[in-house]
This record gives sequence, C-alpha cells and structure tokens, in this order.
Amino acid sequence: MSAYAYVAPTSISEVLTLLDDHVRSGRGTQILAGGTDVMVQMRSVNREPRTFIDIKRLEETNRLHVGAEEVYIGSAIPSARMQEHAELKTLYPGLLEAADLIGSTQVQGRATICGNLCNASPAGDSIPALIAAGAVCDIATPDGSRELAVEDFVVGVGQNALADGEFLLGVMLRRPQASTKDAYLRFTPRTEMDIAVAGVGVSVTLDGPNCIAARVAIGAVATKALLVVDAAEALIGTTLDDAALQLAGMACQAAAQPISDKRGSAGYRKKVVAVLCRRALAIARDRALGR
Ligand SMILES: Cc1cc2nc3c(=O)[nH]c(=O)nc-3n(C[C@H](O)[C@H](O)[C@H](O)COP(=O)(O)OP(=O)(O)OC[C@H]3O[C@@H](n4cnc5c(N)ncnc54)[C@H](O)[C@@H]3O)c2cc1C
Repeated sequence: MSAYAYVAPTSISEVLTLLDDHVRSGRGTQILAGGTDVMVQMRSVNREPRTFIDIKRLEETNRLHVGAEEVYIGSAIPSARMQEHAELKTLYPGLLEAADLIGSTQVQGRATICGNLCNASPAGDSIPALIAAGAVCDIATPDGSRELAVEDFVVGVGQNALADGEFLLGVMLRRPQASTKDAYLRFTPRTEMDIAVAGVGVSVTLDGPNCIAARVAIGAVATKALLVVDAAEALIGTTLDDAALQLAGMACQAAAQPISDKRGSAGYRKKVVAVLCRRALAIARDRALGR
C-alpha cells in the first residue's frame, strides 16, 4: 500500500539522488520548503501518496548572503528572516515589501520567496518583485547547476521550468548601486490575507535626476507574471515625470491579459495595473532620490 513519506536530506547530492530514484520508480515526490502552499494543497488539490523532500536542512538552501557584488537568497530562507536583514531591506525594499505581503506573521515564519516562485501562482507576490530586481534562479541539476532568469522560470499557471530531477537552490541578484531602487505594490479587495487583483514590481536606476535603467513586471493579470519591456522603455531617458509614468502605466495596461473573476473584472484589473505601476514607480523614484 502506498502512503505519504517524508525525508529531510542534508546535501544537494542526496536530494538529487532521491529525486532520481523516485523518477525511476515512478513514485511521486514533492519538494517541501516552508510548506505553506504544500500543506494546503495536499488537503484540497492533490491527495496522491508521495514523498516530501524537505530542503530546509541543506547548507546551501539556508544561505542568505549580501556580498560586494552579489546577493544570494537560499530557497529555505523564510520571509521573516529576510525582513530581519537590515542591509537586504535597504538594498531591495521592494522585494522585501512583496515578501512581507505573503500571508500573516505566522505564515511568514515559514514561507519562502523561492516556494512562492516554484508554486507559480499568477498572483504570487514575490514574482513580479523578483523579476523587477533582475533575479536569476540557481537550479540544482543532475549534471551540476544551471541559471535561469526569473521571468523565464514560471511557464504557466502552477507550472515552472524545473525538469524532473531538478530543484531550486536559491535566487541570485546583482548588488544594486545606491541609485537603484525598487518597489512593489499590489491591490487586494480585502486589507489582509487575500491574493492580488493586480501587482506591480518596479526597479529604477537614476543618474542624477535621469532614469538610465528600469525594469517593470506585472502580476495577477496574466497566466504568469510578465516583464513589460515597453514600460521600461517609456521611462529610460526621462526624469520619471508624470508623463513618463503615465506612459509606463499604459504599457502595463496593454501587456496585461487578465481574467474576470470574483475579485474583479478584466477591465477593472487593467485599470488597476496602470495605477499601481505609476504609484510604484513614484515610490521607487523617490527612494532612488533619497527622499
Ligand atoms: C494563509 C495564507 C496566506 C497566503 N497569502 C499569500 C499572499 O498574500 N501572497 C502570496 O503570494 N502567497 C500567499 N500564500 C501562499 C504561500 O504562503 C506562498 O506561496 C509561499 O511563499 C510559499 O512558500 P513555501 O516555502 O511555504 O512553499 P512550499 O509550500 O514549501 O512549496 C510551494 C511549492 O513550490 C515547490 N517548491 C518549494 N521550494 C522548492 C524548491 N526549492 N525547489 C523546487 N520546488 C520547490 C513545492 O514543491 C510546492 O509545489 C498564502 C498562504 C497561506 C496559507
């Protein structure tokens, strides 16, 4: 008789071997990070017997490093630990804002941004923020490792680009310059514990008053979070004045392909995403200007 099983390996190679053995035997596995999606889904979505592979005991997945060049957030790092890291908060206020929106204080004690990313919900809050910040996935593979930009990691609703036998070790970010700042805003019908009707992550880099680089990503308005290149192009070379923000908002509106559901109609979501884009950009601009 088949049943649930739980294993908590301590090395990457052990995880990879477990994944490989299960692929060969045909028994299902699921990686377990904070479990805040897994626990809900095993009751309501997928009750199939399978082996949970807990990745919280690996040294690599517990790595939270802010270096001179690179920032690394391991896949077992819960949102609460990110919030306690003062330097990370200064460097990536937008990403931390997004992680801070995931669930309640209790949920954040466990929930990881990598779990949020792997779960691949269109409304996952950290995903647009990670895309805006230019994060890259560090994926453990049977042959070593591979890197993939976050915007290419989610491939559909609940689907990510991990192949059988792979798992996410963490996300890597380039340490931003002092004049680069991000922001994340979402809109929900309720003030607490609801998923986004729309979300926008932005990052801008200024040279004096001028915008020299930008990234804009939208969430909950398509089957996956989208990088909106047209929005960034509307910003670069401007002082991020109202006219530029308006154009970026319109680009987000044009890129959005939302559904209508109980949280809002498609037309409503399109309007909201443009407003959120303008507001998030104004926040990021003011942060970059030190206001
Ligand atoms: C009450 C409540 C409120 C919530 N509110 C929000 C919210 O406001 N916004 C939001 O975006 N989400 C919300 N969530 C969803 C959830 O908390 C987040 O998606 C969370 O970030 C998931 O992280 P986790 O570490 O718990 O992932 P887990 O539940 O452990 O895993 C999630 C999925 O990713 C896979 N996975 C996890 N880590 C890896 C890895 N390293 N490699 C490969 N696959 C992996 C798992 O197999 C699973 O399929 C909420 C959940 C609850 C219960």
